[in-house]
Amino acid sequence: MACIERIKIEGEDVIPAQVEGLVDVFAANNFVFSKARWVEDNEVSTCKICSNKFNQLRRKHHCRQCGRVLCSKCCSQKVPLPQLGLPDPERVCEVCKPVTECITKSRSSHQSFQLEAVQGLTELVMDSAGMKKVIELGGLQTLVFLSKQENEQIRKHVMCGLHTLASHEPLLGYLVKAGGIKATCRILSCAKEEEEQTVIAGISTLMIFCKSVDFKSQALQDGALQPILALCNMNETIALLAVSTLSLIVQDPRTHAAVIENNNKALPRIIAFTNARDEQMQEVSLNVLAHLSTGTEWHKNRLVQEDFTCGRCLLKVLKTNTRNMQIVFNAACTVANLASSEQSQSALQEHMEIMCNLLSTYDEHTDLLLHISRAVANFSKFPQNASRLVQHLPNVIAISLKSETDAIKFQGMRCLFNLLSHMARPTIEALMKDGASELLEGISDIPGVHDAIQTAILKNIPEVTSPPI
Ligand SMILES: [Zn+2]
Ligand SMILES: [Zn+2]
Repeated sequence: MACIERIKIEGEDVIPAQVEGLVDVFAANNFVFSKARWVEDNEVSTCKICSNKFNQLRRKHHCRQCGRVLCSKCCSQKVPLPQLGLPDPERVCEVCKPVTECITKSRSSHQSFQLEAVQGLTELVMDSAGMKKVIELGGLQTLVFLSKQENEQIRKHVMCGLHTLASHEPLLGYLVKAGGIKATCRILSCAKEEEEQTVIAGISTLMIFCKSVDFKSQALQDGALQPILALCNMNETIALLAVSTLSLIVQDPRTHAAVIENNNKALPRIIAFTNARDEQMQEVSLNVLAHLSTGTEWHKNRLVQEDFTCGRCLLKVLKTNTRNMQIVFNAACTVANLASSEQSQSALQEHMEIMCNLLSTYDEHTDLLLHISRAVANFSKFPQNASRLVQHLPNVIAISLKSETDAIKFQGMRCLFNLLSHMARPTIEALMKDGASELLEGISDIPGVHDAIQTAILKNIPEVTSPPI
């Protein structure tokens, strides 16, 4: 026998219902649950519910659902149990009855019964006692299974129920195995904008999975990305949740191609959100772009082109005097990443100018200054930018090169070396006025530099020679 899984809910052990055969009920056409352990008559002397002693008058009865031994008062009702492969009415105890009835109704082909079933289950999971019973008797699988129904009301209640279940961390693994993510994605992909409650519950559920280190990749495998991208096109409340969830998804670089290359207009919408009035929206959409801009040359160029088509949103962010440092930080990180794209240089000239000017604006903010210095260093790689960048040499030297933070100092050095190779004269002149000693000290701190220079010099100047003849 397979080891019995136990889940702790509010400090109590719960043995969740086991499905016979396929565990993922979203993929199943039909399924039954394994029967509970049948408690033998001689194991008990009192009713498990009312605690009264059994005797000649108070006889023992079994609840077919939970397998416990009970008195006739506590176990008097009969309910058909197709979910256990028992289609005729069977004795069910008072404790099992509310959940059992819902699950039985869910097996009906009538939508009104199915609706009653999901409404009942969604209500029952609101308190912990109900939740435990729902988990034990298979309510979770029932909700997942009914997510495939076309009826809007059924989908709404299923989604609310699944959201409540997903809010209990110990249940996540069990929910994933049963097909809970696929069920959520399925509901989200059929939901219309007017079904706001359903959509918000669905997206909040996906967000829970995407936040989790253990389940994020499963969420992607089960199809979370496409509905999220589609929801970016809905109203601002929904879009904010969608973009926030997307910012968790794009932390995985394997998703970038799908986001950038998708054809449902999500990317232009995300770019446009960087100019939204809502600062939170600006922050998360820029966070998504900052992740996306770490990819291939082709993807970076695509982002730059798309931004251009959208009206140069990134430039507008950089030009706005926002006090929200996270916005500036995400924007600077994005531009710094894009600045390394060779093909995008002509489209990024204005960005480059602004980044150079920002060096002196944010010289107090170490984290931000690192991105700005990195942007300037990345731009300096390309010879066509040199004549404009040498104008900013005093700032590169004073702020980046002389920074007390090594990472910033190295970006300053990268910039100076690039400019030395493109436009040696003005760069040397600037360094002679200020910064030459810092640059030399910086160089001597880099491991391996000494050997590299010696090797390069020895290529031209021999170490040993013969005397002239
Ligand atoms: Zn009893
Ligand atoms: Zn029972």
